[in-house]
Amino acid sequence: MSKIYHDDDADLGVLEDQTVALVGYGNQGRSQALNLRDSGVNVIVGNIRDHAAAQATEDGFSATSIAEACGQADVVMMLIPDEIMPEVFKTDVAPNLAPGKLLVFASGYNIAFNLVTPPGYVDVALVAPRMIGVGVRETFVAGNGFPSFVGVHHDATGNAKARMLAIAKGIGSTRAGCIEMSMHDEASLDLFTEQAFGPAFGRVLMSSIELLVEAGYPPEAVLLELYLSGEFAYSFDKMREVGMMKQMDFHSRTSQYGTVTRGARFMGLGEPIKQKMSEVLEEIRSGSFADEWSKQQSSATALFDKIRAARDQMPIAKWDEATRTAFKIGNAG
Ligand code: NDP
Repeated sequence: MSKIYHDDDADLGVLEDQTVALVGYGNQGRSQALNLRDSGVNVIVGNIRDHAAAQATEDGFSATSIAEACGQADVVMMLIPDEIMPEVFKTDVAPNLAPGKLLVFASGYNIAFNLVTPPGYVDVALVAPRMIGVGVRETFVAGNGFPSFVGVHHDATGNAKARMLAIAKGIGSTRAGCIEMSMHDEASLDLFTEQAFGPAFGRVLMSSIELLVEAGYPPEAVLLELYLSGEFAYSFDKMREVGMMKQMDFHSRTSQYGTVTRGARFMGLGEPIKQKMSEVLEEIRSGSFADEWSKQQSSATALFDKIRAARDQMPIAKWDEATRTAFKIGNAG
């Protein structure tokens, strides 16, 4: 069993005389800054001079340049997009790191794939929320927090773990629980979900839509049945609450009988799917995906524009829009 930390394992007192700089005030930065301040931590914000810095000032934080904030802080939390982090780290963060500071990453990506190399005289830790930024604030305010992956990557002071856990407690994560993990494992799991589980799941969904529409069912009804009604998302929620197997009890006996007997016919697909997934996992673990992405970034915008244009022309995009409008679902409501 992995090591799991809760509130009792962490002491906010170790941050008592320390200043924590949040580099970046976006999805994660704003929520984590507000949570830390509400936990009694002395927080400052470092950001490029744009609307995020204005928001930080409006929220009552002292907002300075990234370089200045890193210079003033004892703990530096890197909360800017992963793809720009190596450059910002080199120019603004690294020159302002003195011995004994703690660097915290919300994603293991740049450390795991050697795109950021901190000096040996600072502590380096991972506090990676398993929660989107808005949820980081909302669950904190609601009092229950959210899980994170945490780990000490480098302990220069002998105090890295205590400070890492204090940060995790300050943002509200030890309330739910933090599981110990390396930067490489955290980054690999995250990328696997994005590159294997998500696309494989998406393929099953698309095959179902194609088959049912080709069989003559109205597209709007197919989309409602498969995901737009929210019934499927509700079942996922129940999986969280009572467990994957037990949630079956919420379905009719006809549903349970059909799922079990027909489900067996799809067993054979498990191995080919795992084969493809293991190729993707290997590219992630070996660093070849990270290498490829570093080299492709200048041409990525053109690629994303092409994908967006093609995506908007797909029949499912139009059915989806029409059905959401007719049923006032989500932002169409
Ligand atoms: P955002 O995309 O929300 O951006 C964060 C900040 O970076 C903003 O303040 C933005 O300013 C600033 N920024 C953008 N470009 C630059 C630049 N060139 N130089 C300096 N600052 C810049 O990031 P996230 O909060 O989504 O992600 C931050 C970290 O958290 C990442 O490591 C990510 O992997 C991790 N993470 C994110 C999760 C999420 O749900 N988003 C979940 C768990 C971890 P402005 O907006 O004003 O341009």
